[in-house]
Amino acid sequence: MDEINNNDTKSNSRRSFLKKFGIGVGIASVASVAGFSLAKGNNGNSYSGDMVKLLTPDGKLVEVPKEAIQAVKLDTDKMKEEARKGLSGKKFVMVIDLAKCKNARKCVDACQEGHMLPKDHEWIKLYLLQENSETSRYWFPRPCFHCDKPMCVSVCPVGATYKRHDGIVLVDNERCIGCKFCMTGCPYSARVFNWKDPEVKMPEGHVYDPELTIPPIEGTVGKCVFCADRARKNELPRCATACPMGVIYFGDLYEDTVTNGVETVRFKKLLADRGGYRYREDLGTLPSVFYLPPTQRMFPVERGIDNQTDEIKERYKKAGPR
Ligand code: SF4
Ligand code: SF4
Repeated sequence: MDEINNNDTKSNSRRSFLKKFGIGVGIASVASVAGFSLAKGNNGNSYSGDMVKLLTPDGKLVEVPKEAIQAVKLDTDKMKEEARKGLSGKKFVMVIDLAKCKNARKCVDACQEGHMLPKDHEWIKLYLLQENSETSRYWFPRPCFHCDKPMCVSVCPVGATYKRHDGIVLVDNERCIGCKFCMTGCPYSARVFNWKDPEVKMPEGHVYDPELTIPPIEGTVGKCVFCADRARKNELPRCATACPMGVIYFGDLYEDTVTNGVETVRFKKLLADRGGYRYREDLGTLPSVFYLPPTQRMFPVERGIDNQTDEIKERYKKAGPR
């Protein structure tokens, strides 16, 4: 494996990624930030002393006088347009190292938390696979593959699901009519139907953003979004950050670089050295997710079952994505 500047990258945050390799940003993400700003001047007004806490766009918590805040109209049309185009000059890819996965399921938890999903909605799903009775079983995390020839996109009658220039496939839940054609079209069962209103309370001023897709909208379809909101901020997807084993690498095909937040490596060399492949290549969907085979596994597969609930143990008796 060709590791790039290992000492340097190890000291980096697990969340920030690829700044040094040129992944840039477009407009600032406004999805989770209520539409408020500080008033430019107080015109001699005196403040009551009531203070409120605000989260700044760069993640700092600040305390300001209540009267110094004013509503700002967010340019939602612009935001949606940018969410439809994607980041220019990028082509995002993911690599999943099956040799390291021990079914810690931290990726599932982080994804559900970050996207406010109910516990039975898993945008990244763990399967216990076995090629045949002669071979060993292994854990197989399956996000959306963000296919370059996505069957889900070609069957959507209203253009609610779409493929961006940077390779990410998204769903605009405000446009989705819930026909489920895309669920039938996806050969990997990567989509989940929002049967119920999750009754998530959003902060005042919250604006729906297809890159973040919170809250899930009843009667529409959801799926892994490659954490497009984070890619816009040069951050790794939530699953990659949460994985204690560094199983999930994310990066840019054009930069030929992927990272799990601890090590940063050349994408093509990693695949060549480790025999990387795409799941069900024969389907011709050209996934943007690549797997490293589970050779020389770091953990016995049983260890991933021991501490699970009965419901999850039962689930692993069934076969993988289909
Ligand atoms: S994995 Fe399924 S939902 Fe994801 S892009 Fe491919 S066809 Fe569409
Ligand atoms: S369920 Fe929504 S995203 Fe899927 S095909 Fe129908 S309209 Fe398109």
